Amino acid sequence: MKKYMKMSQLYSPTLKEDPAEAELASHKLLLRAGMIRKTAAGLYSYLPLAWRSLLKIEAVIRDEMEGIGAQEMLVPMIVPAEIWQDSGRWDVYGPELLRLRDRHERDFVVGPTHEETFVDLVKNELRSYKQLPVTLYQIQDKFRDEMRPRFGLMRGREFIMKDAYSFDANVEGMQKSYEDQKEAYARICERCGLKALPVVADSGQIGGDTSVEYMALAEAGEAALVYCDCGYAADVEAARADIAIEEGPGTECERIETPCEGSIESLAVFLGISERACRKSFAIIAEDETPVLCLLPGDHELNDVKAEHAFGHYDPMSEEQMAEYGLVKGYMGPIGADKRVRVVADVSLRESTSWLIGANEAGWHIKGARPGRDFEVDEWLDLASAKEGDRCPKCGAPLKSARGIEVSQVFQLGTKYSEAMGATFMDEDGKEKPFQMGCYGIGVSRTLAAVVEQHHDEHGIVWPVCVAPYEVEIIPLDAKGEVWDAAEQIANELTEAGIEVVVDDRKERPGVKFNDADLMGYPYQVVCGKRGIKNGVVEVKERATGERADVAIAEVASYLANRVIAERK
Ligand code: ATP
Ligand code: MG
Repeated sequence: MKKYMKMSQLYSPTLKEDPAEAELASHKLLLRAGMIRKTAAGLYSYLPLAWRSLLKIEAVIRDEMEGIGAQEMLVPMIVPAEIWQDSGRWDVYGPELLRLRDRHERDFVVGPTHEETFVDLVKNELRSYKQLPVTLYQIQDKFRDEMRPRFGLMRGREFIMKDAYSFDANVEGMQKSYEDQKEAYARICERCGLKALPVVADSGQIGGDTSVEYMALAEAGEAALVYCDCGYAADVEAARADIAIEEGPGTECERIETPCEGSIESLAVFLGISERACRKSFAIIAEDETPVLCLLPGDHELNDVKAEHAFGHYDPMSEEQMAEYGLVKGYMGPIGADKRVRVVADVSLRESTSWLIGANEAGWHIKGARPGRDFEVDEWLDLASAKEGDRCPKCGAPLKSARGIEVSQVFQLGTKYSEAMGATFMDEDGKEKPFQMGCYGIGVSRTLAAVVEQHHDEHGIVWPVCVAPYEVEIIPLDAKGEVWDAAEQIANELTEAGIEVVVDDRKERPGVKFNDADLMGYPYQVVCGKRGIKNGVVEVKERATGERADVAIAEVASYLANRVIAERK
C-alpha cells in the first residue's frame, strides 16, 4: 500500500548556506535541497529526492521510446578495447576516455557512449533486411574524464545517459528512424517542462539536417545561440551571419583625423555614426604563416570557429609583426599595409561602397574607401559571429539571442560504424550491405539540472509537476492534536488518490518548515494551522505563483488531486 513520506525520515540533508564551490543555480539548489552530494570531482550521488525526479524523467523517456517502437535493453558499461580498435576510436578518442586493464592484461574502456557495443551486438545476429528497422536503447551511467568537470550534474564525469541506436536497410529508413527520435526528443523536453530549441548541429548535403542538438534555454548555458520565431536556431559558432550593410560617411576616399582611443566604440562616438558603419580589422597569422587582415562590420566579432576553418590554427599578430607588416594597432586598415598582407573581408560587406577604415597611422582613419577602387579585397568569407538583430538566414526577420544547455543530440551516422566494424545484413537484392545507423543521446542527469535552471527563484526550486520528487507537501504547524489529525487525513486521502505526498512532521518552527518547503520546491503546499482548522479550512499555496487559497478540509484532497493529475502530462 502506498504511504506518504514523513519529512522526519526523509534522507535529504539540506544546507542553510550556498555551498562555496557552486556557481550555477541548479548546482547550488540541488546541493542545498539535499538532493545530490559530491563524492569526487564530477562524481555525484543522487539522494532519494533527486532519484525520484530522475526516475520520472526516465519514465517520460521510456514512454516516448515505446511510442516509436524503440526497445529498451542494457549492455555492460565496460567495453573491450578490441571493438574500439575495430571502429578506429581507440586511437582517436582523447584523454576523456577512461581506459583500464584487467588482471589478464586485457584492455577495456569505461564507455563514454556505446556505438561499438551495439554494432558488435547486432553483427551476425541481425542478418536480413526483413528484420529491419530496429532501434535499441538503454539508460545507463557513462564515464567521460572531462577536463573541467563542473556545475554539478551539468558537466559530470560519471553521468546518466539514455542512448539509442537505430539500424536500417537504407538511407530513407535511417532518415525515418532519425525523424522519429528527433520528434520524440522534442516531446521529452516538453513533458519534462523544458523550453528547448532544436539547433542544427550539422546540415546534410541534400538539405535537411543530419544532426540536431536540443538546447534548453538558460542564462547559465555554455552555448551561445541565435534563433528566430520561424523555427531557425543555430549555435553562434555555426550560424551564417546575414548582416545588413551600413555605409560609412562620404563616398570620396579621404584621410580624416580621429583623435580617439583607437576602439570602434570611441571612433563611432567621435564621428557620430553607428559602430556597424565602421569597419573592424583583425590582424592574424594563418597556420601557413600568411599575414591576414580580416575586415568586419564594426559591431561584429571575428568568429573563432569560422576563422579556424578558413585559416587553420591561427594566432593574433603580435605588435612586432604588425610593425613589420605596416599595420598600426587601433588604426589598422588595408590601405598602406604591406603587400604581403592578405586582405579578407566578411561576405556581408561585399556590396558596401563606403568603408571607414584605419589609415595605419595613429590618430588617423580613411573614410569613403571603396574596395576595387581604393584597395583590393583578396577574398570574401563568412567570418563574423552572428548576433541578435542580424537577419535570419531562413526568413530575414531579426534574430534573437539566447544561451542554451545541450540536453540531447540526435545523429544520422550512415555506415560509419557498421562499415568499419563489418556489420552487414543481406538486402532484398541478395547483396551484403552495411547497416544505415543513427544514434541518439539524452543526458538524463543533465536534464534534471536543466529543469532546475529553468525552474527556480530566490527561495529555491520550483518543480514542474512532471519532474517533482513529490507533488504535494503538507505542513502541519502543530505535530499533535486536531492540526495533526487534519494533516494526516489530507495526506491519506491524497495518497489514496495516487498523489505523491510528503508531510513535514518535524518539530520545527513554522518559518523553518516554510523555508525548506520553498527550497525543496514541491509544486503545492498545504499549510494546516490551528486557526484555519477551527474554521474548517487549510491554506493551499502554489509554489510557482505563490498564490494562496483557503480550501475546505473536506475538499482539499480532491481539489489538489485534480490539479496535480492534470499537470502530470
Ligand atoms: P558536451 O558538448 O556538452 O560535452 P557532447 O556533445 O559531448 O556534450 P553527446 O556525446 O552528444 O555529448 O552526449 C549526449 C548527451 O549526454 C548530451 O547531449 C548531454 O546531455 C549528455 N552529456 C554529455 N556529456 C555530459 C557530461 N559531462 N555530464 C552530463 N551530461 C553529459
Ligand atoms: Mg552532443
